[in-house]
Amino acid sequence: MDFSSGRARLKQARLAGDRRELYPHSLQFYLDPPTENVSLVEFESFAVDRLKLLKVVENLGVSYVRSSDSYKTKLGAELRKLKFPYKALAEDDYEARRKDHISHFILRLAYCQSEDLRRWFLQQEMDLLRYRFNELTESLRQKFLEHVNLPFEALTARSLPSIQSDERLQPLLNHLSHSYVGPDYSVQKNTGKISLEQIDALSGKSFPLCMRQLHKALRDNHHLRHGGRMQYGLFLKGIGLTLEQALEFWKKEFIRGKVDADKFDKGYAYSIRHSYGKEGKRTDYTPYSCMKIIMSNPPSQGDYHGCPFRHSDPELLKQKLQSYKIPPSGITQILELVKGMHYQLACQKYFELMHDVDDIGFSLNHPNQYFTESQRLLSGGRELKKEPSNSGNSQQKNNSQESMNSNSAPTSSNTTADAELEGLEAYFTED
Ligand code: SF4
Repeated sequence: MDFSSGRARLKQARLAGDRRELYPHSLQFYLDPPTENVSLVEFESFAVDRLKLLKVVENLGVSYVRSSDSYKTKLGAELRKLKFPYKALAEDDYEARRKDHISHFILRLAYCQSEDLRRWFLQQEMDLLRYRFNELTESLRQKFLEHVNLPFEALTARSLPSIQSDERLQPLLNHLSHSYVGPDYSVQKNTGKISLEQIDALSGKSFPLCMRQLHKALRDNHHLRHGGRMQYGLFLKGIGLTLEQALEFWKKEFIRGKVDADKFDKGYAYSIRHSYGKEGKRTDYTPYSCMKIIMSNPPSQGDYHGCPFRHSDPELLKQKLQSYKIPPSGITQILELVKGMHYQLACQKYFELMHDVDDIGFSLNHPNQYFTESQRLLSGGRELKKEPSNSGNSQQKNNSQESMNSNSAPTSSNTTADAELEGLEAYFTED
């Protein structure tokens, strides 16, 4: 008889029993924070997965009726994919329940730090809980409610002082609450594929509103303050401007204003080289994600950076959208999303209206993603809802006109720019 394997089996059974006792239901209202040791790698990957899940919850909540089959199917699939508990499995889904517990607590810490963050987090968690609760059978719902007793204690923020003293965790938590889960657009396969003459036309056609606003302000004022230069400069780097092009682009524009060539070379040129990793610590800076733009460094008077959906006065935003020929019903939808603090979804709606598609087909998290998807779509990478109409063409012309009217009109004609753009669009269809 193999006593050792018998003992091991017994130990395993006991462990399984302990585990079941720890997480007796697939749904949990835990009263105690996780107390076990969690590696930093696991800490981050759990948090990022939950963040991905909550982004999907947010997206679906706007695109579908919450009780609809499509909503349930898509959310169920996401829970399965990310290995969170998705059904009331009777058997051992301990790992999924543990992940559920730990990841929820981490995001509570990350998202309790401001009213905006708290509201967003609560809204998504509430929707997720509602979905998961409704998926339970009647008897499991009953069991769950009896088990949890439903006591409530306010705001995780009280745990922060002790967490804040942990120098390993605080940067992670700060980072998470501003974090973006997707490519960072630091690898520029498209470097050097864009000419400076194309930028005016591209800004009307394929730039998200934040970058279009920055481009226009730069052309109008021949200057941008630091926040704008960083946000826009890194975006341009992400769409493929080389360092040499960036230096030429900024210099040409700045010397039309109050900065002379010498001052530019001595001051501004350094910071451009710096952002390309050629000076100082030689950090190759990555373009800002939507979350970073929305959550940090709000613009003040005279600034043009930030996210117009988050930082513009709604009336000004409305006027801007009108001037871009967005139809009134679209503007109403965008303003509703802005009111509900769904800024990225408002931007997605703007994308749909600008490109005349019904469904954007991706979750927008990054201005450079907006650009890449726009170029892919314009080159025929996706189905358009309908053939571009004359009015669509006139919108593009108007957009180009807007740039052409500025003092710093591009040197090439619209026709040349459009021809060049076609080549560029084709480029972006490549993976
Ligand atoms: Fe720019 Fe993102 Fe705001 Fe859109 S949601 S305007 S891409 S920051």
